[in-house]
Amino acid sequence: EAKSAGRSQIRYFNNEMRKKLKQQADIENDLQNGIKNGEFELYYQPIFTLARPRVVSFESLVRWHHPKNGLVTPDDFIPIAEQTGQIIELDLHLLELAAKQVAQWQSIGISDISLTVNVSSRHFASLEFVDQIANLYRAYDLHQGALSLEITESGLIENLNLATKVIHGLSPFGVKLYLDDFGTGYSALGYLHQLPIHILKIDKSFIQQLTDQDNPLVDAILSLAKSLDLEVVAEGIETAKQFQTLSGKACQYGQGFLISHPLQADQALAFLQSEQVKFTTKDISNKV
Ligand code: C2E
Ligand code: MG
Ligand code: MG
Ligand code: MG
Repeated sequence: EAKSAGRSQIRYFNNEMRKKLKQQADIENDLQNGIKNGEFELYYQPIFTLARPRVVSFESLVRWHHPKNGLVTPDDFIPIAEQTGQIIELDLHLLELAAKQVAQWQSIGISDISLTVNVSSRHFASLEFVDQIANLYRAYDLHQGALSLEITESGLIENLNLATKVIHGLSPFGVKLYLDDFGTGYSALGYLHQLPIHILKIDKSFIQQLTDQDNPLVDAILSLAKSLDLEVVAEGIETAKQFQTLSGKACQYGQGFLISHPLQADQALAFLQSEQVKFTTKDISNKV
């Protein structure tokens, strides 16, 4: 009895394993074709100042128009691309899409908007990345600060010296470094002051806890940022209450569904052209 139950469990486990491996192999294969066939599209989510809600930049977030599976969100393929190493090629492809977008906006007179692009920390293990970014700035005649980068901290700390050189190599282009998902997972606080980053993004899990109570962790992160002379973006602002609570604190920027979901390029442009009028602090407080 027990033995056969064990066997069937092993068989179940093996089937599940096989299915998972097959899925990963498919994605690996499909990613390659997807880049070649232009199946990836960037969506853009506004990042705004909290003091007086104004859009200052957009975060680019990738979506995959998969020929069989429809619209696929990044959590379903970025981790796999990280494992297979394809993230390098994918990120470079998406950086080029972002560069093209900024160039297109520049060409119609929108010259002060910047995009932040999520990239793997793997790029910071080689100075080649500096040349790749420099080439984009040249090829698309981008204004200083047109592109900035979002990274998570774990990969940077593994090779702090080299990462520091890469980040310094990028600074002539006005590329700012955002530390994404701050406060989640493994935070090596001891290294934070050594990282040449500019902006912290407080992870949305902390912002979502800002309901009727304050979240002492948010205050702690804000005071840490202040003492390290870093600016802060609060991610995942969904309610007017969260917005208001944050506005009273030393948090410069916000992002979240309350103001806007990630938008396709044409919608992002329309948002940019209309929002500066629409969002006043008063509108927000009326919603509470
Ligand atoms: P992230 O960089 O931390 O991006 C924030 C995620 O939160 C996005 O999910 C965004 O759509 C979502 N979000 C924004 N506002 C709200 C809100 O108010 N409430 C909630 N619940 N969620 C909100 P998305 O687009 O699914 O991206 C997931 C992750 O995939 C990103 O996390 C980033 O780590 C990665 N990613 C996205 N695009 C790229 C890319 O082009 N390259 C790379 N390497 N990674 C990417
Ligand atoms: Mg991000
Ligand atoms: Mg994040
Ligand atoms: Mg993330």
